[in-house]
Amino acid sequence: MSSEANGTASSSVRCLADARVLVVGLGGLGCPAVLALAEAGIGRLVLLDDDVVEEENLHRQFLYRDVDSGRHKVDAAGAALEQRGISRGRIELRHGRLLAGNALELLRGVDLVVEGSDNYATKFLAADASHLAGKPAVLGAALRWAATVWAIDPHGRPCYRCLFEDPPEVAPSCAEAGVMGPVVGVAGALMAELAIQTLLDERAMGPIYTYDGKTDRLRAVEVAAREDCTLCGVGPTITELDEARYPGTPCPNHESPPPRQGTPIDRYARQRRLAEVGDVGQARLAELEVVLADSESADLEGEFLLRAGVRGVITAPGCPAPLPHEAHFTRKGPRRVATGAWRALKRIRTALDLEH
Ligand SMILES: [Zn+2]
Repeated sequence: MSSEANGTASSSVRCLADARVLVVGLGGLGCPAVLALAEAGIGRLVLLDDDVVEEENLHRQFLYRDVDSGRHKVDAAGAALEQRGISRGRIELRHGRLLAGNALELLRGVDLVVEGSDNYATKFLAADASHLAGKPAVLGAALRWAATVWAIDPHGRPCYRCLFEDPPEVAPSCAEAGVMGPVVGVAGALMAELAIQTLLDERAMGPIYTYDGKTDRLRAVEVAAREDCTLCGVGPTITELDEARYPGTPCPNHESPPPRQGTPIDRYARQRRLAEVGDVGQARLAELEVVLADSESADLEGEFLLRAGVRGVITAPGCPAPLPHEAHFTRKGPRRVATGAWRALKRIRTALDLEH
């Protein structure tokens, strides 16, 4: 815990109840991240998203329910957190996007930003803005069975642009390429964990973490700083935020949800087609009746499994599988969320014959 009196030169806080965190994007990564941060005791959470809940994304956005379809994500997330016992006074709801015009002001009011949107333009903007504002950032990304999480020191090197340089011209988004729900559960929990360690000055910043949900491999990879980096190198060219630098990767979710047709939307279609579950795999999941060992993570494990398409879950006394990555999750909130997601993922791997 920091011994600094007022944190003027450091982003660290004396205790989590004093901390203010901006969460950009309340999708597959934002949902687990925000729940883990709230349960860990973060004093104030500012939730920012301009999107509405879509039925076909519910398999990976566990804070939302069918009745939330069409509702603004920030409103639905705020209500979901309240239902889980998080005081309304700790949550600030902001309808909107992170933009070059508002990013620095939004960052001024918080100690750290957690970014889990589904497009590169927002990721680069969050990375640049946090560097210029001198605030640490935790960025997450996920596609299919893989995720990356990175905590970045605004005063140190490397930065986000040391590795990724510029937004790609063409990149698949989660919505286009699909993502396995519990994979973003593990990744979102890790984002919360790294945010907490950063806030408490526990030196979480540095390596980029990669998680492969198929092999269950979690690795920390060191990134080299680049001398010619446009943000943190010698003679940086990015010294202010310019909207033109963040080409508006059209966000598919930004549009209004499609009108309901005569037949119900198949919420698992995208998972089945694109996240490599396949028709056979989805049929196997649909046959599963899962008995969950009673534990503090059982509700989340069941939530992830039901949303992945299993037939049903019941909870009974038993000995739940221990989280092999426990050393990476030191706080109660992130550990609970990561454990629930990881156990669900393990069951799914087993059902799909991926477990060895
Ligand atoms: Zn850099």
